[in-house]
Amino acid sequence: MSYREENECEITDKCPFFIDELAERPGIAVMYKKKYCNGNYVECARYLVIKELGLENAPSDLYPNMLRRADEIIAERI
Ligand code: SF4
Repeated sequence: MSYREENECEITDKCPFFIDELAERPGIAVMYKKKYCNGNYVECARYLVIKELGLENAPSDLYPNMLRRADEIIAERI
């Protein structure tokens, strides 16, 4: 069983953004991980889309701070 921080997003082990995109962008990785993945993940645009529509419906270029786009994606699908 893996240890999970109290505020850690429940899908860090599945989220392509966390696994791939942030690995390629170490400069912003620290900021995003601290603010969203290991913090306020319930306000992450990706998290909202994934919880509502599933992992496959979160575009790879949807960044955690793109809440308006997340709302648009969700509105289009439901
Ligand atoms: S980017 Fe968002 S959905 Fe992905 S692991 Fe971080 S908080 Fe969770």
